[in-house]
Amino acid sequence: MLPPNLRDYYLEIRCPRCAGRARWEEPFEIADPSRGQVPGGSEDEGYAKWGGWRVREKFPTLLRWTEPRRGQGWAHYTQGVVRCSACHFVGLHRLRWPGDAFFRWNVRGTPLWAWHAEHARVLHDYIAARVRDPFRYPDPYPKSLQRLPKDVLAGRNRERVSKQIAATLAEAGLALDPPLRPPRAVHGMTHQAG
Ligand SMILES: [Zn+2]
Repeated sequence: MLPPNLRDYYLEIRCPRCAGRARWEEPFEIADPSRGQVPGGSEDEGYAKWGGWRVREKFPTLLRWTEPRRGQGWAHYTQGVVRCSACHFVGLHRLRWPGDAFFRWNVRGTPLWAWHAEHARVLHDYIAARVRDPFRYPDPYPKSLQRLPKDVLAGRNRERVSKQIAATLAEAGLALDPPLRPPRAVHGMTHQAG
């Protein structure tokens, strides 16, 4: 599962050059002026017009916008731009998900992955918790936590999975404790870890 396409969203992938932690982004910002997503609401400010939408090229030297054929949308999570802070590579990269994921684990044969470091911290926090409440976390995490595979959530795997996630974060030189945005008010169902 991938996050809903949010503006300015990104994934962390293995750099195609050095296998370090790199950021993958959509090449275009597709905005809806009727929702006030376009500053100034005008195509004069770097936005191209596409039907009722406005499109901004985030990396114009790498990829120019071409309108999809009539009736077709832009396919999110396909062609994008990767930027690596380790080797400074910047270039086009066609996403293969979850194969490209930087944060990925194998839980007794069941694959588990995180979109990026913050998601990895959320997974760790949720899986290690005595009482698992997906709604403690901000969007878009709750839905993805509710869909985690049974093996990942099984009580007998709790320690193994949380250790695996903690080890990957440590290897990447990242803190385990999330500087998470404040949790939303608790509502809805809670999941007993079991
Ligand atoms: Zn790199």
